[in-house]
Amino acid sequence: MREIIDRLYNERILNQEEFGRLLETTDEFDMQYLFKRAREVSKKHFGNKIYIRGLIEFTNYCRNDCYYCGIRKSNRNTDRYRLSKDDILKCCENGYELGFRTFVLQGGDDPWYSDEKLIDIISDIRAKYADCAITLSIGEKTFAQYEKFFRAGADRYLLRHETADSEHYKKLHPSDMSGENRKDCLFKLKDIGYQAGAGFMVGSPYQSTENVVEDLLFLKKLKPAMVGIGPFIPAAGTPFDQFERGDLNLTLKLLSIIRLMFSNVLLPSTTALGTIHPYGRELGIMAGANVVMPNLSPTSVRKKYMLYDNKICTGDEAAECRSCLEGRMKKIGYEIMVDRGDFHSEENEAKEG
Ligand code: SAM
Repeated sequence: MREIIDRLYNERILNQEEFGRLLETTDEFDMQYLFKRAREVSKKHFGNKIYIRGLIEFTNYCRNDCYYCGIRKSNRNTDRYRLSKDDILKCCENGYELGFRTFVLQGGDDPWYSDEKLIDIISDIRAKYADCAITLSIGEKTFAQYEKFFRAGADRYLLRHETADSEHYKKLHPSDMSGENRKDCLFKLKDIGYQAGAGFMVGSPYQSTENVVEDLLFLKKLKPAMVGIGPFIPAAGTPFDQFERGDLNLTLKLLSIIRLMFSNVLLPSTTALGTIHPYGRELGIMAGANVVMPNLSPTSVRKKYMLYDNKICTGDEAAECRSCLEGRMKKIGYEIMVDRGDFHSEENEAKEG
């Protein structure tokens, strides 16, 4: 197994069979070796610095009905909310004072926010915070829409592909949604010039090792700037509320594999990871992640953006979230970085020397 890990470290890719074996190994020593190698690579690129992104969950209305998601259209238990432009700008103001230089606007796919409304919000943030990055995570749109948001000032876009396998995708989504379109959106985003982030849930219902290998090979083809992965966690009021949550070790293993495949990719240690283990986010960093995403949403709405059960940090003020994460990172020898934290492709890094 160590030989396979070293090959991944040196060549950044494995064949399907080797990826499968690595994903299925449970040997504690091999796993520790994998984490160590991945940590080595992330330390080489980012030192002991961890980027922070301020997450603003601005709407929990969604036109989609993904079987796993707590804010799916059909979940009658969800108390719906939308933030106004002023609310969003207040979150940014608060975040800026706390040292955030990236704002992530995330929401359900909510058509109430027309293109005009979104452009108005994005351009106001861009005008007020010229030194900040704006990340959108608002689902599938057309090329023309993505382009308009980019021109208005958005720099990055998170759109997890969820699963690269179309049959598996169909088991997670109703028939009006298509995995092919979702993957296609990611290539469009890259063409436009966004730093694009893909990703998937670890341990989603019906996920096989082969599916995960396909996810890794899809990522290799896409060459994303960011990869968002976290464990699947069941959400009350969804068709998947009785499924097992995703496995901690498999999630950590995947963070390491992704770090070894893409040495300088922006890789968050997610809230979902922190939800399934009290030190999940620290373990994620120790497995090669280099980003954390404290919440900047107003506390009044936090509990309503319940993608899954028992989500952490739903009661804390933004300042508490930030200082809590700063303290947690310090304890494991890392420092939070006040910086936009852009992705630099390896070709550019080579040119920059
Ligand atoms: N609407 C946007 C989109 O479709 O990309 C962004 C919001 S969506 C709720 C953000 C992500 O939450 C999804 O890509 C999915 O991977 C994750 N998510 C949803 N339900 C989850 C669950 N039960 N457990 C873990 N992650 C979940």
